[in-house]
Amino acid sequence: MVQVVEDYTPVVNGTASTVKSRKTYQQAIVSSQPSLTASYLSQSLRFLQKLRSKENFTEEPRSSSHPTPARLRLNIVVVGAGLGGLSLAIALARRGHSVRVLEQASKLGEVGASIQIPPNSGRLLHRWGVFEYLEKWAVKPEGINFRRWEDGQAIGYTALGKTFQADFNVPYYVVHRAHFHEALHQRASQLGVAVELHSRVVGYSEQKSSVVLDSGTTIQGDLVIAADDSRIKSKARQAIHPGLCQDPQFNGFAAYRATVDVQKMQNSPEIAWLLEKPSLNIRIGEDRHVMTYTIAAGESFNMVLSHIDRSEPATWTEKFAKEHIQQEFTRLVIIGDAAHAMLPYMSQGAAMAVEDGAALAVALNHISTIDELPFVLRAFEKERIKRSSDMQNASTVNGLIWHFADGPEQRARDTSMAAEVVGSPFTSSANQWSDPVTQWWAYGYDAESKMEEAWDEAVRALIMRAG
Ligand SMILES: Cc1cc2nc3c(=O)[nH]c(=O)nc-3n(C[C@H](O)[C@H](O)[C@H](O)COP(=O)(O)OP(=O)(O)OC[C@H]3O[C@@H](n4cnc5c(N)ncnc54)[C@H](O)[C@@H]3O)c2cc1C
Repeated sequence: MVQVVEDYTPVVNGTASTVKSRKTYQQAIVSSQPSLTASYLSQSLRFLQKLRSKENFTEEPRSSSHPTPARLRLNIVVVGAGLGGLSLAIALARRGHSVRVLEQASKLGEVGASIQIPPNSGRLLHRWGVFEYLEKWAVKPEGINFRRWEDGQAIGYTALGKTFQADFNVPYYVVHRAHFHEALHQRASQLGVAVELHSRVVGYSEQKSSVVLDSGTTIQGDLVIAADDSRIKSKARQAIHPGLCQDPQFNGFAAYRATVDVQKMQNSPEIAWLLEKPSLNIRIGEDRHVMTYTIAAGESFNMVLSHIDRSEPATWTEKFAKEHIQQEFTRLVIIGDAAHAMLPYMSQGAAMAVEDGAALAVALNHISTIDELPFVLRAFEKERIKRSSDMQNASTVNGLIWHFADGPEQRARDTSMAAEVVGSPFTSSANQWSDPVTQWWAYGYDAESKMEEAWDEAVRALIMRAG
């Protein structure tokens, strides 16, 4: 099932038993000495690191829209044709893997209303050619207004205009989920990805790298990746972590979503002002918030109404991530919400799934035999657990900061955001979407480049261990 690209001269072998080109690695790594480790957040240090790295000048750009094809072309089975599964399929297919996507539904589509596409996923989707299908639908808000719950007074503002776009090289978008999904499907089809409907997976075999459908059919691949968003009920999750699967627990937050025809709103003076500029508005108050923006090329007005329910503790804990990282698995991977569902308060759940796909495709480019999969997957998992756990934390922090009761905490928060409302310079903010450090961490992240760095790091550690 494995197709090896004939003219490839292997440079890297990742497993401990097959470090054939150790010298090549050491040369590459030594070339970036003396050691300039990014032990603190610094764009300047990163610049210096890149400058010192000879690799940087000799190889193709790590974030190319024409990526190096995989040296070992795999037959990959993806379970779930949601936003994560289709993104992953695109990331893999554009590097030459053969991808088969199994979807339980009888028809493709996305339920629900809107979705935000922040720059950390937008830059990948642009690079992958998805925006050729999505651009016509995408709305580019000028900013995000944080408003007081009772009177709509502006208390925070994240500018998403020219400076933001120049900083992150891509706009901040809002789209209808159905349009996003359709664009992903179109691009995946163009790349030759087969999406098979009526294909509900009911069983996984990690050893055989296969899945069983409810029809009884077994489908095998070199690698199975589940993007089945069944959260803690995910069948794939049960196969990988039988001891860790638990019944769903309510995480304390609930959300309602709705859309309204913009034309109807335009006839109502009381609310028509909300449409004046393409922007996001978030009204925050004790234990609840309402987020609104237009989607569907400005034709539809979207609302997300969230409130806290204190009945249960959060489902996702650091303990889970640690136990997860210690697990060894080989031919079955989970991504997207199935791996790391999160509160929607950073608007980053699907973005994390897109990043997962990007990182996995990059990691797989480093293998030349199937035996190297475990090493590569561990490197992938380590990077993605760190990133998605951090984003889970950031989402939880927004859940706290936004929902203060009126009083001293709320006033201190509003004061810390005041400069951004009047357009004065500021270096920190309680608004994580504006805070410069958080912005760079969230939106400046390039999942393909970061996976390359994580790969270098994994190899470096391997060499150190091997002496
Ligand atoms: C209120 C709210 C607002 C949000 N806003 C944002 C936002 O603005 N930006 C953002 O990035 N994220 C946002 N998110 C998060 C985002 O919606 C999810 O993170 C994302 O949809 C997860 O993608 P996925 O592919 O993992 O799962 P999904 O897109 O749900 O796809 C899972 C797919 O797997 C299929 N499937 C399941 N089980 C099986 C099986 N056994 N066999 C075959 N197929 C199967 C399903 O039918 C489905 O098609 C929001 C979430 C919520 C709740």
